[in-house]
Amino acid sequence: MKKTTMTAVVKDTAAPGIVIKQVPIPKPKKDEVLVKVRYASVCGTDIGIYDWIPWAASHIKPPQIVGHEMVGEIIEINTKEKTNLQPGDLVSSETHIFCQNCYQCSIKNYHICENMKLFGIGRDGAFAEYATIPIRTTWKNDPRISVEAMSVQEPLGNAVNVVTKADVKDKKILIMGLGPTGLCAGMVAKAYGAAEVVGVNRREYRRDLAMKLGFDRAVAKIDEKEYGTFDAVLEMSGNRIGIEIALDAARIAGKIIAFGIPKENISFDWGKYMINKELSIDSVFGRMIWDTWKDTTELLISGNVDLTKIITHRFKLSEFEEAMKVMKSGECGKILLEP
Ligand SMILES: [Zn+2]
Ligand SMILES: [Zn+2]
Repeated sequence: MKKTTMTAVVKDTAAPGIVIKQVPIPKPKKDEVLVKVRYASVCGTDIGIYDWIPWAASHIKPPQIVGHEMVGEIIEINTKEKTNLQPGDLVSSETHIFCQNCYQCSIKNYHICENMKLFGIGRDGAFAEYATIPIRTTWKNDPRISVEAMSVQEPLGNAVNVVTKADVKDKKILIMGLGPTGLCAGMVAKAYGAAEVVGVNRREYRRDLAMKLGFDRAVAKIDEKEYGTFDAVLEMSGNRIGIEIALDAARIAGKIIAFGIPKENISFDWGKYMINKELSIDSVFGRMIWDTWKDTTELLISGNVDLTKIITHRFKLSEFEEAMKVMKSGECGKILLEP
């Protein structure tokens, strides 16, 4: 008998928590593919969804399958259009599902589409045995990349976009916050020729991991007397104190790239930092589609970035609660889930 249901991690009600249950295997709609998920990885965003923070409550309509970082094998393609995709291809999903019709899409800023939907947030995602993905946001992976690394390209892509905007070659770089994207940013900055990369995180586990990944230094606190100022600061923490430190640690006319999303409103001395100090602040929300994915592929194929080093834990999909515990402890790099 043909299998008609699958295991999935479902946000079932508008409240904290998650359920693991059997749901029908989805059918690909017009211009979508159906994939058999090989690996999915847990993102910081998934903690917010689990805890049902206000941001999650305003973006998710339960019941919905969560999870957006993934790799899977194409089982079925439902389209009449020409496509380079074939059954058997190993693909990942771009999280930002763009509309193709708005002004931002018309100037190829697909990642900040005005009508954007997020995979695993505004529609069913990948913490399941099967998932459907619109063809326009399906990325065909280069088979030279390890299958596990394929599942972690979405956060690596964020890091690639941040580091590209910071223009790091021969520069002294500070990274505030060593979550997986901050850790990836350090690897990418080194690969792109940064002179020095220093990471800041209060957790020893994360600092140790940063050193294993090739950071020059990883410290709990940054002191200007000891470290001087930095050409660019990558603000990956989204933490108020992290942001305050970033403003001071950037040199005069230095650069800050904002990536971490704060949970509170941030205020700072505009005159001191933006005028007198001539700081420039740039920001990143996701990956350039598909330029960042191409750069990410190059980094992985060249071996200049080894994503498998950042994968510290693996769980079965059915052990999602365990994975979430480890995720919340902060004593981890990237966590892979296997259906
Ligand atoms: Zn993510
Ligand atoms: Zn659009």
